[in-house]
Amino acid sequence: MTHDAAEALVWAALDAEQRGLNSGTAGNFSLRHGAGLLITPTGIPPAEMRPDQIVSMALDGSWQGTWRPSSEWAIHARILAARPDVGAVVHAHPDHSVALSCLRQAIPAFHYMVAGFGGTEIPCSPYACFGSGELADTVVTTLGSRYHACLMANHGMVSVGPDMATAIARAAKLEMLARQYLLALRAGNPALLNADEMAEVAGRYREYGRQPG
Ligand SMILES: [Zn+2]
Repeated sequence: MTHDAAEALVWAALDAEQRGLNSGTAGNFSLRHGAGLLITPTGIPPAEMRPDQIVSMALDGSWQGTWRPSSEWAIHARILAARPDVGAVVHAHPDHSVALSCLRQAIPAFHYMVAGFGGTEIPCSPYACFGSGELADTVVTTLGSRYHACLMANHGMVSVGPDMATAIARAAKLEMLARQYLLALRAGNPALLNADEMAEVAGRYREYGRQPG
């Protein structure tokens, strides 16, 4: 494994913690690496994590070395196997995303920025036990070929990107939208953007070539 890529993963874990996206050992992070992936180890909090503890694995889950990969390695490996456009995966338990995941519903088009996640809603994957192959499969199915993130029922969230900076930025954006949607739900019955309005937003995003604000 390259030391630079391993260092980038340790940095990602610290960065996510500083942004309030994960705490303790709940979050895990991976980067595509050759035919396999590099992934954060299980049970080591970001502040104590060192680059030599990053685990190099094959997409089939085989690995070697002293340190065990995250218990959610299958989510990372199966997303990377299914999505050639993805180079980095973030899985975490930020508070507002977790709270909304317990409703087991997609985040609807309550705000135009929902369109930046690949569709007109941000989906929620069905419940399955943590660390299970079934959970990994439900997440892969929910993301499909186009979504950049999803909630995971009664658990947390996953985001993906071509690189780690993008995947973390999407995780932060999802957590912000989850917080704002919860606030709106508390205040009343949020009006939703319709299909035409969301199509217009998607067109603007394509026009800008990136997501504005
Ligand atoms: Zn988890």
